[in-house]
Amino acid sequence: MNDCIFCKIANREIPSKLVYDSDEFMAFHDVHPVAPIHVLIIPKAHYSNLEDIVSTNPLLSKRLLQAVNDVASELDVNEDGYRLIMNSGENGGQSVPHLHFHLIAGTKLNIHLV
Ligand code: AMP
Ligand code: ZN
Repeated sequence: MNDCIFCKIANREIPSKLVYDSDEFMAFHDVHPVAPIHVLIIPKAHYSNLEDIVSTNPLLSKRLLQAVNDVASELDVNEDGYRLIMNSGENGGQSVPHLHFHLIAGTKLNIHLV
């Protein structure tokens, strides 16, 4: 996608603070962190949402979850814990239309949405 900001990050056209980089996935710090650790995990290829990646590349969608776990290990947050969020679509509050997970950690999160 030509004008997708996360595609540009994946292609290194715009800088990011990388925490994880593999052939298929990338993780970088969110520019507006809501917690001491706030990292976004993306597939490098453009998928707009979960339905998009699961329907077109189901094996990649499974590896995405493995990549999330790799990032959690890299950040050393498995023991203390973290929260994983994916905003999807208009009602979900998704502002960047390139599939991404928010990994939020580094403090005790007191807001329970569910
Ligand atoms: P969402 O609202 O779930 O689509 O989340 C998009 C997230 O991307 C927001 O938390 C933004 O702060 C973050 N964001 C937008 N542009 C950048 C960027 N260039 N580098 C890092 N994070 C970004
Ligand atoms: Zn994209």
